[in-house]
Amino acid sequence: MTQSKVLISEVGPRDGLQNCGAVMPTEAKKRWIGALAAAGLREIEVGSFVSPKLLPQMQDTPEITRFAKTIPGLVVAVLVPNLKGAQAAVQAGADKITLPLSVSETHCLRNIRRTHDEVIEDARAIAALVKGTGPGRRPHFEGSLSTAFGCTLEGPVPESVILRCAERLMAAGCDEVGLSDTTGYGDPAAVRRLIRAVRGVVGAQNLTGIHLHNTRGLGLANVLAAYDEGITTFDSSLGGLGGCLTAPGASGNVVTEDLVFMFEAMGVATGVDLEALMATRSIVSAALPGEELYGFTPRAGLPLGFRPARAAGPAV
Ligand code: ZN
Repeated sequence: MTQSKVLISEVGPRDGLQNCGAVMPTEAKKRWIGALAAAGLREIEVGSFVSPKLLPQMQDTPEITRFAKTIPGLVVAVLVPNLKGAQAAVQAGADKITLPLSVSETHCLRNIRRTHDEVIEDARAIAALVKGTGPGRRPHFEGSLSTAFGCTLEGPVPESVILRCAERLMAAGCDEVGLSDTTGYGDPAAVRRLIRAVRGVVGAQNLTGIHLHNTRGLGLANVLAAYDEGITTFDSSLGGLGGCLTAPGASGNVVTEDLVFMFEAMGVATGVDLEALMATRSIVSAALPGEELYGFTPRAGLPLGFRPARAAGPAV
């Protein structure tokens, strides 16, 4: 078996579902997550530990996290807005905890009602919490630089502010930082520039993942730019689930099916079985009728004679 060269982190059950109007029933979520893992996805962001009043779509996150932990080998990732969420995540046994820090302070206040200073304080407390968790149970702790490529409220955010946020997250005790194009404002040149700049202050080993949206159709171009810069973990959601309220017809995250197709066609192994991955769309369609699923590859099908990367012979 060939070792995967990139890690696809499926965020549909979190980023996708939290942006859907309808709530996916818990049993359907479990079926979907199980099927995604069976298709070869090794990391899935299964939910967000937020107030059920704010996001009813995420109210079953503790149960979903405990369920996902029963899937052998799966890295169970979750989002937390604060220390309270992190405590619940640790209790449920999450393997990876992501705390978003919106580099746009206006967005930060609007999104999680906190200033940068307050989020950094939480980051410190969460770092202490995870470090105090027993060996083998200690989750990986990522600080995510949200709205890194621009904010719908503030517009562009100065690079100096982004770099300062990255430095402060690492100093607070995060294991690494991630870059997040929450608004789908990024372009390949900006992706290259920001990866280099952030790595310049935190070190290449402390920035390995990127979270991209396909709001303006540049998702895969941005992925490729990030890959060329050495990024190895890519967030995406099945069917580009989630959409965007302010851009009708635009998908949410990068579409997992198209992302896997691109890498496999390039000879970069993802470990994901494309046919099995695409088959999981029917679970989502059945549970969320009326929710549009995006993706070119599922519609067009695989090219005749297509060979996934892991089956490819040596390059000639
Ligand atoms: Zn997102």
